[in-house]
Amino acid sequence: MRSYLYEYELVSPPNLAEALALMAREPGAWKPFAGGTDLMVLLEAGKLPHKKFFSLWHLRELKGIRISPEAVTLGALTTYTEVLRHPVLQQEFPLLWRAAAETGGVATQNRGTLGGNIANASPAADSPPALLVYDAELELMSARGSRWVPYHGFHTGYKQMDLRSDELIRSLRLPRVTRSRKHYYRKVGARKAQAISKVVFAGVAELEGDVVRDIRIAVGSVAPTVLRCVRTESVLRGHKVNPATIAGAQAALAGEIAPIDDIRSTMSYRRRVSLNLLEDFLQSCLDSKR
Ligand SMILES: Cc1cc2nc3c(=O)[nH]c(=O)nc-3n(C[C@H](O)[C@H](O)[C@H](O)COP(=O)(O)OP(=O)(O)OC[C@H]3O[C@@H](n4cnc5c(N)ncnc54)[C@H](O)[C@@H]3O)c2cc1C
Repeated sequence: MRSYLYEYELVSPPNLAEALALMAREPGAWKPFAGGTDLMVLLEAGKLPHKKFFSLWHLRELKGIRISPEAVTLGALTTYTEVLRHPVLQQEFPLLWRAAAETGGVATQNRGTLGGNIANASPAADSPPALLVYDAELELMSARGSRWVPYHGFHTGYKQMDLRSDELIRSLRLPRVTRSRKHYYRKVGARKAQAISKVVFAGVAELEGDVVRDIRIAVGSVAPTVLRCVRTESVLRGHKVNPATIAGAQAALAGEIAPIDDIRSTMSYRRRVSLNLLEDFLQSCLDSKR
């Protein structure tokens, strides 16, 4: 291990109010520690910038999945395993379910949380594209109270987000939609499992015949943040899915993403795969068997 453990402090506030009070006393000094699956990798690599942590793991105020007629609300500590075991999520939010199924292995799924995946703010993270197309909202909480923000717009730049130094993510809300929708999710990595995404694509569409009534598209690993592709969506909304519209949408997507070369992939591969996945998604909308 490249870090000297005695340099670090980890405390365990007994409840959410005390955790928020700790953050309020020294804003920015204390960092939340949820499942630790991202933080422990940084610790092992000697790249953990913070020294003071407080555990969230036992805070019941951040746990649980609640279902109402309008929405599903998930505590920030919801693990991938809990997502996979929930029948309403599997049925109504299959892209989140797929993202959970394709995240790491069983050990990571048992410990890794949705709040941690969001706050770690990796542009290659697997749940954010699903959360974006399902119009998720986040509840951000501090000792001053709580505020709800749309998840779209929460990430403001590479590893930057609209989260104040005394705030943590308490929960996520997904509005329930009863209308029939087409759901599409593809994670492309070096292997079928245990891989970090080269490209991760999520799409939800409502069609009337072959006309797109509404559509949401989000792509990961192609920009400094996971990207909701609003320009591509607007090219498609109200139009028939045909070769000309698909080509127009691909041109819009090519202008909207900004992939880079890095250790996992190249700019040109990421661009090609993103455009291919968009075409596959749109073709799947016309194919009732997919
Ligand atoms: C072997 C392995 C495989 C992995 N595979 C994948 C994968 O396939 N796809 C993928 O997307 N990720 C993957 N990850 C990354 C990681 O598992 C996820 O990002 C996970 O969701 C992080 O959650 P956590 O609770 O462990 O976060 P932690 O490590 O506890 O925290 C991560 C960051 O979020 C902050 N944080 C945590 N909770 C909150 C909160 N409620 N409010 C505010 N800030 C908070 C922490 O301060 C920290 O900065 C993998 C990790 C490992 C070790």
